[in-house]
Amino acid sequence: MPVEIPVLEKGEITELSKLGYCERAKHIFAKFMTDFSEDELLECAEGAYIGKFENDEPTPIVKLGDNVYMLELWHGPTCAFKDMALQILPHFLVKSAEKAGDGKKTVILTATSGDTGKAALEGFCDVEGTEIIVFYPDNGVSKIQQLQMQTQKGKNVSVCGVKGNFDDTQTAVKTIFTDESIRAKLAENGKRFSSANSINVGRLLPQVVYYISAYADLVAKGEISEGETVNVTVPTGNFGNILAAYYAKQMGVPFGKLICASNANNVLTDFLSTGEYNVNREFFMTESPSMDILVSSNLERLVFELCDKDDGYIIEIMKSLREHGAYCVPDEILSKIKETFAAGYTDDKGAENRIKMLFDEYSYLCDTHTAVAVEVYEKYKEVTGDKTKTIIASTASPYKFPRAVLKAISGMNEPDDFEAAKKIENISGLKMPKQLSELSEKEPRFTKVCERENMAGFVLSTVGGDC
Ligand SMILES: *Cc1c(COP(=O)(O)O)cnc(C)c1O
Repeated sequence: MPVEIPVLEKGEITELSKLGYCERAKHIFAKFMTDFSEDELLECAEGAYIGKFENDEPTPIVKLGDNVYMLELWHGPTCAFKDMALQILPHFLVKSAEKAGDGKKTVILTATSGDTGKAALEGFCDVEGTEIIVFYPDNGVSKIQQLQMQTQKGKNVSVCGVKGNFDDTQTAVKTIFTDESIRAKLAENGKRFSSANSINVGRLLPQVVYYISAYADLVAKGEISEGETVNVTVPTGNFGNILAAYYAKQMGVPFGKLICASNANNVLTDFLSTGEYNVNREFFMTESPSMDILVSSNLERLVFELCDKDDGYIIEIMKSLREHGAYCVPDEILSKIKETFAAGYTDDKGAENRIKMLFDEYSYLCDTHTAVAVEVYEKYKEVTGDKTKTIIASTASPYKFPRAVLKAISGMNEPDDFEAAKKIENISGLKMPKQLSELSEKEPRFTKVCERENMAGFVLSTVGGDC
């Protein structure tokens, strides 16, 4: 993490509101990435966002009713918000490797709850000097998500299913990262590890950009005046997306409450309301699989900020998490959390009803993750009476989860994803993105599934040899 989070100057958001997305991104990155020139940063942003998204303004906002702004982050190559970071991360990495000048190849090791994997594969596909390995929980991702990964093209990519859930997969990947003998083996071969998960700060910065950009867009459109408070609601799993909103707030964007929305795996709802983080609970597989997470990686970074960057304290609570599956923060930290965060959760039924309500009322179709956020926001508004305008992060195309979306809007149970998608097209008139519809004709390349204990072996056999 940066030692200090840079702060925007007065009037800076108004200036940003006059620029396009890539220029805004350059401006914001420059505050953090001081060893890159502005030209380099602009090159990274343009390489990532121009021609790769449906539109050169990659993050459109759709207004629903008086107070709600849906920030659609899924118009990229893999139809989930992960593209916003994972399209640009390879550009950062290649330029950083040039600057480091040690000629080492980078091996990207990634655990995915469904969307990160494909977005990372797409971002790193055939990028010179990199290889990428993705592990996903077998049976823990949607059919479309699995097909997206299994059919990935490229010479430098591998994908493997793991018997276990996402937490098991992510924990095993973190263990591989810190295994000295594996790292030594890689070093012998002129390689080093890096991560495409949100433990990599290169994932978080591009996410900070879209929150600032969204606020600037609302100023530009005259929806708000500069300085007006806006809340942000985020469907949350690993706490990466909402943490980016928190950093944007730290930078001075007038965000009020950050509303953390969870599905039935509501460990964060409990933590943000009681200060106790406890993963000793039932794990649910839901219709919003990318949020089926109990060990939320980036929470550590929030607590780090809130305990005045006391790294000793963080080491202590992370040890407690490893050993007992739980930790508890003191009241000073809990009260800081409550100043900024609100939290809530809903189950599959709540999300399903919300998809239907949005479709009936606004002809707006949203995916199962986004529906969790809207539902939690509506409950928050009801309980608190807080009518502050709200940006809601819309994190995936509804066509990534077509069976659940079809059931929500029509009551139909269609077991086949592609048939379900066709029916949604007929009902809604909205086209399935081509990169998803063409999956029905592609042959899977990667069908291997391994035990957790064999993940390290898979990594070594994939990257150990050639160099
Ligand atoms: C990854 C993901 C989330 C959760 O984001 P975090 O940064 O892990 O909190 C929510 N929705 C979708 C569609 C996702 O892919």
